[in-house]
Parts: sequence; structure tokens; C-alpha cells
Amino acid sequence: MMSRKPLIAGNWKMNLNHLEAIALVQKLAASLPAKYFDKVDVTVIPPFTDIRSVQTVIDGDKLLITYGAQDVSAHDSGAYTGEISGAFLKKLGVTFAVVGHSERRTYHNETDEVVLAKTKAALKHELTPIVCIGEGLEIREAGDHVEYNVAQLKGSLAGLSADDIAKTVIAYEPVWAIGTGRVASAADAQEVCAAIRGALEEIADAATAASVRILYGGSVNAKNVGELVGQADVDGALVGGASLKPDEFATLSAIA
Ligand code: PEP
Repeated sequence: MMSRKPLIAGNWKMNLNHLEAIALVQKLAASLPAKYFDKVDVTVIPPFTDIRSVQTVIDGDKLLITYGAQDVSAHDSGAYTGEISGAFLKKLGVTFAVVGHSERRTYHNETDEVVLAKTKAALKHELTPIVCIGEGLEIREAGDHVEYNVAQLKGSLAGLSADDIAKTVIAYEPVWAIGTGRVASAADAQEVCAAIRGALEEIADAATAASVRILYGGSVNAKNVGELVGQADVDGALVGGASLKPDEFATLSAIA
């Protein structure tokens, strides 16, 4: 089987101004010696207004941490007030763009069609989309979570070629686990991540499915990350709250 390098991605959400961002990246770098980057990729995903400052620290200190954006416009440029083009992000050295985070699906009514359009925009501008999917509590309690996630995945990647799918990262984030302290069990995470890989094989091919990194997200911390990423189909984590604590984020990155 193709080996997949774990990815630990820290989604800061709407936290930390650009000065606080600089301080966090410096602390994180001090706690994560270069040797760790042989076995794990670590990325921080700050608010848009922090990206230039984060870039300056990372480039200036030649850090191996990469950085991403929390969203990307489906459009390239023009009359789309408040939106941010993938072209601008690429110019700032951004590696990843999160698309379809449950907070955007919920508060900004982003449908699978919108998420697909943003995924395509990210790919067009050579950003790696981190495509988020995940079920709410009612769906989990009804036992429909596998079907739900597979349908959301297929909707969010509909019509993409296997080559494009190979350039994505998928994040399985059960909504009931995000920011709640209620982490999915390792077996629950594995069940859905395995189903996602199976669906990738169906819509692309076996080699693509074996190469795509699938992250788990939802109340990941330094204590639970080891068991989660120890699962066969869990290739890292999308981390919210714990990514704002540089010591803990460094510790969990080192464990992964
Ligand atoms: C997230 O924001 O994607 C997330 C998983 O948050 P938390 O780790 O705080 O649950």
C-alpha cells in the first residue's frame, strides 16, 4: 500500500490578530524541531488578515511549517465583495484551502455545489483543497452516518477527474464533535474514513484512493491524537481549539 505522510492542520477559525499570529507561529516553531517534518506535515490555517504576517515569519526563519486559508472564492476576480481569490492566496505562498467546513455549510448555507465550485477554484490556482464533510448528531443517532458522508463526499467532488481528486485532502469532521470536547472514538473515525476511501475508489480509482490523505477532525488534542491517527485510514487531523495552544499543537504534531 502506498504510504501517506500524516498531515496535522490547525484551523484557527476567527481567532488571533496578525500580531498574535506571529507570536504563535514563532512559539510553535520553537517546539517543533526540523527532524519532525520528515514524518509529519504541519500546517497552520489562520484568518485571511494574518496570512501575510505568517508568510513573513515562515519565509524569514525558513520554517518547514506551511500555511493555508480557511476558505477560497469560487471566482477568480471581479465584483464579489468580501471574497478572496485563490490567485491571491497562491501569490501569498498558501498551500492549503479549507472548503466546506461545517461552520460555513451551516452559517453561510454552503451546499455541496458551492463546495464543489470552491474545490475546483482551489485546484485551478494550485492550492490543495481540504474538503470537509461530516454528519450532524441526528444522522449519527439514526445510524445513517456512513451513507450521509459518502453522499456529501460525492456531491463535493462531483465530476472531478481522478487526477484532480488525487490533489485533494478530505477531512471527516462529525459536526457533533467539533468544538464540543466530544471526540469520535477511534473506531468511529476509522469506520467513516474507510468508507470515504472506498467511495474515492469508486469515483476515481484504487491508486488515487490509496494516495489521498483523509483527516479526522473534532475535539482532537494531544491525548487522543495518537489513537486516532493510528487507524488504518486516518492520515492526520484537522484541529481547531488545540491549534491555538502552541505547546499542545506541537506535542500532538510530534505524536502524529
Ligand atoms: C475544526 O475547527 O475543524 C475543529 C475540528 O475544531 P475542534 O478541534 O475545536 O473541535
